[in-house]
Amino acid sequence: MARDTTQLAVLGAGPGGYAAAFYAADLGMQVTLVDEEKNPGGVCLYRGCIPSKALLHVAKVIDEARHASAWGVSFGEPKLDINKLRSFKQNVVDKLTGGVGQVAKMRKVRFIQGRATLTGPQSMKIAGASGDTELQFEHCILATGSSPSRVPSLALDSPRMMDSTSGLELPEVPASLLVVGGGYIGLELGTVYATLGSKVSVVEMTAGLLPGADRDLVSVLQKRLETLFSRIMLNTKVVKVAEENNGIRVTFEANEQGRGGSSDPPGPSEQVFDRVLVAVGRRPNSNIPGLETTAVKVDPKGFIETDGQRRTAEPAIFAIGDVAGEPMLAHKASHEARVAVEAIQGHRAVFEPLAIPAVVFTDPEIAWTGLTEAQAQTEGRDIEVAKFPWAASGRAITIDRPDGVTKLVLDKKTGRILGVGIAGSGAGELIAEGTLAIEMGATAEDLKMTIHPHPTLSETLMESAEVFFGQSTHVYKPKRK
Ligand code: FAD
Ligand code: NAD
Repeated sequence: MARDTTQLAVLGAGPGGYAAAFYAADLGMQVTLVDEEKNPGGVCLYRGCIPSKALLHVAKVIDEARHASAWGVSFGEPKLDINKLRSFKQNVVDKLTGGVGQVAKMRKVRFIQGRATLTGPQSMKIAGASGDTELQFEHCILATGSSPSRVPSLALDSPRMMDSTSGLELPEVPASLLVVGGGYIGLELGTVYATLGSKVSVVEMTAGLLPGADRDLVSVLQKRLETLFSRIMLNTKVVKVAEENNGIRVTFEANEQGRGGSSDPPGPSEQVFDRVLVAVGRRPNSNIPGLETTAVKVDPKGFIETDGQRRTAEPAIFAIGDVAGEPMLAHKASHEARVAVEAIQGHRAVFEPLAIPAVVFTDPEIAWTGLTEAQAQTEGRDIEVAKFPWAASGRAITIDRPDGVTKLVLDKKTGRILGVGIAGSGAGELIAEGTLAIEMGATAEDLKMTIHPHPTLSETLMESAEVFFGQSTHVYKPKRK
């Protein structure tokens, strides 16, 4: 067994772990990064954000090509070479994870491939491909991420049952696919499969898709999904799945409110699908072997408890990313990484963002940041909402995508921007300006006075600020006196 010491051990090399390791190395620390994969990357690069976005990009191109006949250009129906599509996605993953591995080497971060077991408050053992290592550390950052949640009624051992990991492997394009869960993963992967040719049905147990997002944003997406998907069932649960010769027989149960999905005709509460994709949330990987040898505490939801600096109950150990709490998003993990490293360096860093952007990469995309309108109402805040419909945007019309809306959630008295929500093609790129505005304490006046390039979708942010004053150039909506 090899013995080694390090100033900082980072356990888990996802966007939380590798960002922490790299930043600590940049600040002059001696760092060891541990993960079971060959290279850093974590769920995000290997089986999350990156492969899903590669497939969604292809889906968007197919969709645009189909739609081009409306502009007088016909390409014919796309011919799918699924092996080539799979290898495109794999190349994207390999390029990025290999690149991050190179960057680790350049920074002299020691990367150990293996499974780690904590053996005390300042030590761990790593069972590696090239032998075992006993590692003593001054500090440790736990960044072990999360895994797909499992539901007993959906526990069936069959290759026809998929989670996000197997779904992203693209085993085939099934003739029919049931997606269980109308959240981020269900809608993103549902979009991929439906565009590639599957008849996709979605079942969501709550009253609406994407429960955390404002309803006016979701309704823009839902209108389009109702044409892409063959069925959307709301207020409905799957109570049983059983394998048959030709597929999975699924039994549904609607709650008292009824299904309510407008594309959900009254129909059988049983249906056979070629495949089922389960995307009902993720659970934190806090069952780290040997965690009990430390004073680290785990809350009832399974997240590791931390303070504002991401320090756990064990003074030398920090936790960041999915394992340390919601929202389970890559950019939140990377930001926490910087806070934890600075705290370890003795700086007065704290994790208290005013806004964490969220983007659902469907078509149209849904993006929001800061306070949602629903949260503001729940909190009884005195707000005003200013909305700019994309039907009045020159850019949206040139790309034939007037199906969008940009809205600001503003403090009624001061006009300070508290939240931004966008539904529309490319909303994910636009939301960054909203996050910056919130973090800088900008007001509607600031946004209105900032010259935005024409014709771009970014103008919808400026014009929604103009709507607040009743002075939008392209929307006639005088301010009520
Ligand atoms: P992870 O990325 O989960 O990495 C944790 C790592 O720790 C893993 O590599 C694991 O192997 C390793 N590990 C765990 N335990 C041990 C151990 N004992 N020993 C050694 N190694 C260990 N987020 C976004 O912001 N944008 C998106 O577009 C997006 N798309 C997604 C799509 C899908 C299909 C999925 C599943 C997730 C998506 N997410 C997205 C969420 C995002 O992937 C996570 O929020 C992010 O990966 C969390 O980063 P992390 O560093 O906390 O951990
Ligand atoms: P999610 O929480 O986004 O959505 C799960 C959905 O499943 C919810 O709407 C929930 O009400 C529903 N649900 C739960 N149990 C159910 C049941 N038994 N039957 C029917 N519906 C049920 O979770 P997800 O889609 O699995 O994604 C996990 C997390 O990964 C996300 O919350 C997000 O943090 C992250 N993620 C982010 C992105 C992105 O940033 N674009 C993409 C994918 C995943």
